[in-house]
Amino acid sequence: MKESDYHKKWRLKNKEKWQASQRKWRQKNKKRFREYTRRYRAKHNLLDPFRLYKRAIKSKETRERLRHEIFVLLGNKCTSCGFFDRRALQIDHVNGGGNKERKLFRHGYYEKILDAIKEGVNKYQLLCANCNWIKRYEKKEENPIQCRPMGFAEAAVKLA
Ligand SMILES: [Zn+2]
Repeated sequence: MKESDYHKKWRLKNKEKWQASQRKWRQKNKKRFREYTRRYRAKHNLLDPFRLYKRAIKSKETRERLRHEIFVLLGNKCTSCGFFDRRALQIDHVNGGGNKERKLFRHGYYEKILDAIKEGVNKYQLLCANCNWIKRYEKKEENPIQCRPMGFAEAAVKLA
C-alpha cells in the first residue's frame, strides 16, 4: 500500500478526528490558511463567497430600487382595476412580447425598462396578477394551449 493511500484510508475512517485536526491547524495558521485559500481560488477562478454574497445583496437592492422607480412612474396601481398591493402587481407589456424581451435583456432588465419609460416609450403598464392573467387569456399572449379554456366535458374526463 502506498503511503498516500494509507493516509487516505485513515482520513476516511477517522473523519471527525481528521476534521478536528484540520480545524486546529487552520486556527493556528490563520495567515497561511488565508493565503492558501486565496491562491486556490485564484488558480480555480473562484470568487470569494463573501464578496459574492455582498454582490448578490447589492444587485437585489438595485433591482428593488429600479422596480420602485418604475412602479411610481407607471402610477403605482393596476391600470385595469386599480388594485394597489405591490406584492401582486406586475410590469406588463401593453402589446405583449414580455418574455422575449426578458430573455433578450436578461441582465439589467429593470434598468432598460426604466430608461425606456423615461424616454417616453409607452409600452409598459402595471397590471395586477388577476388582470394580467385575464389579459393573457383573452389575447392568448404567452401560451395558447395553457390559455385555452377547458370545456366541461374535458374537465369531467380529467376528474373521473
Ligand atoms: Zn387589476
